[in-house]
Amino acid sequence: DGTVVVVGGGLAAARTISTLRRKKFTGPIELITAEEHLPYDRPPLSKDVLRGERDQTALPFDTEKLGVRVHTGTAATGLDTEGRRLHTTGGEFTYDGLVLATGADPVRVPGDGPQLTLRTLDDALALRARLQPGARVVLIGASWIGAEVATVAAARGAEVTCLEAGDVPLGVALGTEVARHLLPWWSDIDLRCGTSVAQVRRDGVELADGTALPADVVVTGIGVRPAVGWLAGSGLQIDRGVLTDERCRTGAPGVVALGDAAQRWSPRTGRHELIEHWDDAGAAAATAVAALLTEDPPAFDPAPYFWSDQFGRKIQYVGRHGAGDTVSIQTTDAGDLDSVQWIDAAGTLTAWLGVDRPRDVVAARTAVGLPAETETAALSN
Ligand code: FAD
Repeated sequence: DGTVVVVGGGLAAARTISTLRRKKFTGPIELITAEEHLPYDRPPLSKDVLRGERDQTALPFDTEKLGVRVHTGTAATGLDTEGRRLHTTGGEFTYDGLVLATGADPVRVPGDGPQLTLRTLDDALALRARLQPGARVVLIGASWIGAEVATVAAARGAEVTCLEAGDVPLGVALGTEVARHLLPWWSDIDLRCGTSVAQVRRDGVELADGTALPADVVVTGIGVRPAVGWLAGSGLQIDRGVLTDERCRTGAPGVVALGDAAQRWSPRTGRHELIEHWDDAGAAAATAVAALLTEDPPAFDPAPYFWSDQFGRKIQYVGRHGAGDTVSIQTTDAGDLDSVQWIDAAGTLTAWLGVDRPRDVVAARTAVGLPAETETAALSN
């Protein structure tokens, strides 16, 4: 077996390495990660860690048992696909197989004032220390991260203001009609929709209309961008993430990409999809490993799945809806959002969302992509 070099220190990297060993790969494995930590999990950062219930979220990763040489605090800086050489801040590595799993970096707003983002364990611990009772916390973006941070910040007694450019929280992700049903959840937050931020200043936030909003803590949660800038000039095809086929293969021999850094071809949708969910980053590892070890790995193109814990509820979402889909919204007797189905013009169930309906997720994962009328019965009661 040759040498496999894995770049990244998240779920995609950790799962790829454990799968390589499970598949009896016996060659050397080098892990290159920019962070000082061994691979850890991110979803708990905005949940358990921020609440103060955990201080670390290490993934199962026994360096010795796995036989991995780990290079922490080492960033990949360039790639020569012809010479099969990876350049890093810690020197050069040659590879037979290379796994690109560098994840994504938070997008920031302009301004030189202090602006926290939440992507790493260190980010989470730094933010937690600032979420004190009475602290004036301004969140930029009522996104998934914004909603989870708002939940914890309010529970810790902070005075939370959330600035959202759109009409409703999560309007872009879910569509206004569905997202409107989540508005009541924000009752303890000073939520200001239709509000754009010009810049973060030393003492707070300046809005697009020039209004100054003082803040003790500013947290930006307006999305992420695949961490692939270092691959410029490598010859790899990059759109937003590294483009791969439905088998995690880039165009370069021996190079695979997965997780938040990758944009994988989806035969299901006919385009390259940037998925950005925990489930996909882990599940794609089996395919990435098969692509490294065999000539003809099976295609990987499941309906995407993610969850979010916010305001005491669990949202779960399966599939991906289209802008023109028909939306069918079910509410509880009390009028709370219960579940949503999106159905396209051909009558196919494209996506399902449930609120506190964890038992329906398995059924939804089977039903998405199939004709709606035959598949929704199991989901709707
Ligand atoms: P990452 O976990 O981002 O790991 C990438 C690693 O690569 C990082 O350690 C990074 O430092 C390193 N790296 C980057 N560039 C370089 C370089 N040049 N050289 C070396 N190393 C580099 N998803 C859900 O489905 N549900 C949730 O509830 C949910 N909650 C989340 C909460 C938070 C706070 C965050 C940040 C994410 C959440 N996600 C959630 C998304 C999920 O965590 C990601 O989809 C997942 O972490 C992607 O894994 P990854 O291994 O591709 O990338």
